[in-house]
Formats: sequence, structure tokens, C-alpha cells
Amino acid sequence: MSSLVERLRVRSDSRPRYSLDESDEESDLLFGKSKKSEDFEKIVRDDAKEDSCNACGESGNLLVCETCTYEYHPKCLMPRLKAPLPTAWRCPKCVNPLNDIEKILDCEMRPTVADDGDASKLGSKQIFVKQYLVKWKGLSYLHCTWVPEKEFIKAYKELPRLRTKVNNFRKQMPVGNSSEDDFVPIRPEYTMVDRILACRQDDQEKEYLVKWVGLNYDECYWESESDIASFQQQIENFNRLQSRYRKLRKQKSNVRDGFDSKNKSKEFQQFEKSPEFLPGGELHPYQLEGLNFLRFSWSKQTHVILADEMGLGKTIQSIAFLASLYEENVSPHLVVAPLSTLRNWER
Ligand SMILES: [Zn+2]
Ligand SMILES: [Zn+2]
Repeated sequence: MSSLVERLRVRSDSRPRYSLDESDEESDLLFGKSKKSEDFEKIVRDDAKEDSCNACGESGNLLVCETCTYEYHPKCLMPRLKAPLPTAWRCPKCVNPLNDIEKILDCEMRPTVADDGDASKLGSKQIFVKQYLVKWKGLSYLHCTWVPEKEFIKAYKELPRLRTKVNNFRKQMPVGNSSEDDFVPIRPEYTMVDRILACRQDDQEKEYLVKWVGLNYDECYWESESDIASFQQQIENFNRLQSRYRKLRKQKSNVRDGFDSKNKSKEFQQFEKSPEFLPGGELHPYQLEGLNFLRFSWSKQTHVILADEMGLGKTIQSIAFLASLYEENVSPHLVVAPLSTLRNWER
């Protein structure tokens, strides 16, 4: 066992060497070099200035490319990079950023500032170019950006699948004027905070893990506090829940100790009728039996599965069980449920 661990360690230490020696095709593509000329030196870019961002020219907190001498500010990249920053990162010159497109949402002729060097002389003349509205992998709909078509054309050779993405988008894009008014590239709900699930903060800005109104839990993203500043209500709700949870956690050890000793002395007592702490209706006799079964198993610390037929009310029996524990100050509980039923569980 220990020899295996050692072997793995040795291998991971020399990983760059290993992958370059084996020289799989993909890394050849990425490095744009032939096998024979591989060495472990960085590509030296003559126009790279030391300690200055390749986009804006300023210094400070720069991200250094793993494979060349370019450096960038995380915020100057397209799409901008967010914390936590990757340990191994390659610049847009080495890896095309259009590789990070999740989908294309819209296409328009949009004004852009002429970037042909003497734009300043012309008083930054605006020109209209075809642009695509892009949703990036790992970023929410708040961070969709317009990308000029020429960037796509440049990238087609390197990223063959990009052309498929554009073609697919063209196929589903509404044609003609009639439907144009109804077409909404980004539904407003996709940018409305439903609830906040977590919070983190390193040396930079505070960030929240956001569940969006129109999207499921698999599309939650970290957002900086300033980006969702208009959703104070949701931030307050989160903070209130957090402080409640912290209080509960503090009490938890006491409660648990108290409960364990209580549990030993207290006999299991079954409900003879539908308990009063359940508002809005009475349990059917077989549901009451289910509740007592759950409570009995719980008092014996036995794991169980409710396997009634569909529609008999397994959910209400589970809720009644949790409610009965809550009545005895045993909480919180973790409910693991399919995505589609989470909303109902929250309610
Ligand atoms: Zn910069
Ligand atoms: Zn690079």
C-alpha cells in the first residue's frame, strides 16, 4: 500500500514531464509544437512586458500564463476570471477563450469602438459589427457578453466544435420580423436572485452562492456581493438563516447530550391520534401507523425505508415524523430529495 502511494507521489511530482514525454495529441494541439521540439521552457513572447497586464498595461496582482510569458489581470480577461483563481492557467493566446462558451443566446449588429490603432485620432469612431451574445461556462447569465463575429472566425480552425455551436444557434434563432418582438435572449428570471445558499470570502470581495429564480440548483454560481447588491432582501434572509443555524449549532451539543440521556429514560410513546402540531388536516389511520413506525424505529436507532404505494402519503408521514422531532427540540434535519421536489420541501 505504502509503495503504491509513493509511486503515485513520484509520478504526480513529475507530471509535466510525464505528459509531455507521452505527448498525447491534445497537448500537441494546445502547445502548437511538434513532439521533437518539446522542452519545458515557456514560449517567450517578444511583446510581453514584465509585470504588466497584456490587456490594459497596468501592473499589480497579475496572473501569469503557465505556457508563455504573458500576464493578465483576472478582470481584464474575456470572460473575466473569478476567484478562486486557478493554479495552472493559460492565457487567451495559448488557449482560445471561446473554448469556454456554453451557448450562444443572440446575434445583432452592434456598435464597437474601432480598434485599428489610430482610433484616438478619429475620435473613437463607432462602427457596427456582427456580434454574438455569449453565455460562458461556469458564469451566470449576469456575465453574458457580446463577442464580435471576427473572434469566432479566427477561432474556427482551432475549435471545430465552435462552428457547430454557431450553426445550432442559427437554426433555433427566430427568422423574420413577426416573432422578433417576443424573442428574449436572457429571461429576466435568470438574473434574479431566488435565494443564497452559501457565502465565502478570501482576501477579496465577499461572494455568495446564488440560486436563480428561473433556474435549477445545478445552475448555481458564486457572485460577488456588488454584483447582486440590488437583492438585499435575499442577502438578509441568508444572514438570518445563518445566524439561526449558528445558534442551533451552539445548542446542538447540549441538546444532543440532553436528548441521549432523556432517550434512555423515556419509553417510546406512540400517537393514538393525529398530533395537534400538524395543522391543516388529520392523518389517515395508516399514515398514523407509518408515523409511529418511524418514531419507533428512530427510538431504536434503526434505519428504515417507507415503501408504501404511490399516492398514499409517504411525504406527509415523513413531514409528520420530522415535525414530531422538532416538537422535542431535535433539529435541524437534512432532507435529501430530487431536484424537482426541493421546492415543495422548502414550502
Ligand atoms: Zn489589466
Ligand atoms: Zn500564454
